[in-house]
Amino acid sequence: MTRLRTLVEPLLRIPDEFRRFDTTPAGATRDLGLDAAAQQVLLDAGLPHVGDGDEVLFDSLDLSTISLYLSARSARRDAMRFWQRSLRRIASGPVGYRVEVRAQCPLPRHSGGCVYQVAPEAGGRMPVVTSERRCVALGAVSYRVQQRPEPLPPVLAELAVSYADVDFYYLPTFLSLNADFVERERIGDCAATAHAILDKAVKAGFEARHAYGFILAVPYSSTHTWTEIRLDGRWFAVDPLLPKAMRAWGITKGDEWPATLSPLGVYRRVATEQIRLAWHGQVPCHTWLPTEIAK
Ligand SMILES: [Zn+2]
Repeated sequence: MTRLRTLVEPLLRIPDEFRRFDTTPAGATRDLGLDAAAQQVLLDAGLPHVGDGDEVLFDSLDLSTISLYLSARSARRDAMRFWQRSLRRIASGPVGYRVEVRAQCPLPRHSGGCVYQVAPEAGGRMPVVTSERRCVALGAVSYRVQQRPEPLPPVLAELAVSYADVDFYYLPTFLSLNADFVERERIGDCAATAHAILDKAVKAGFEARHAYGFILAVPYSSTHTWTEIRLDGRWFAVDPLLPKAMRAWGITKGDEWPATLSPLGVYRRVATEQIRLAWHGQVPCHTWLPTEIAK
């Protein structure tokens, strides 16, 4: 109960005007593994909602954040275990990865074939046309990773530590572009926190850039957003949020992946801004990234 209250309190820093109350109690159980008892405890702890009784509606981002911390089983949590394994694999020598980009028709009732456009960063060169409505392979990219994760130089470690108090909370899109919100409220998602760190780095006189790309891992890679900063001619990734979240979610223990680590090698930048890897006509696709070790 205390833990739930602790989890709900930071949610109250997100103004209600940005919420979309779109999730029913049944949806919260089905999609996020939060049963009626858990929902009642969350409501008692002050979880934002509209309506009451069977008519209550929750914000799906709020529930997604809560379910990550409650160790509910999900594909997302499984993927995180692979990240830590990647860190160990890359630390022991160069690795080749082949990342496949897969998507599923987002509008399965339309007529005719599906036409997908795949970003060049995801191996796309021309449209993929198919009659297949289920999961289809759209492209693939291969990487030879030589760079190993390493401790940040002291001046960048200091910057990383100054954001180590920020807790991972999904933010509505508008706030996700807002570095000031993270500075003030000390909660954020990957994109918002990366923007805050980028702003601070640039103000401090560093050459820095936003990075969007993959966390390379077998059997699935993930997309992620972080900050890269150049020092003495070399780029480092500064991303204290992810290791903190992984510890809070019970994925990692101890200090194998500290806030002051540059995980380049596990992280592979593909763009300077968040991009959609695949589109179905005008509709962006949810993508999966099955990944194998390449010979
Ligand atoms: Zn389609």
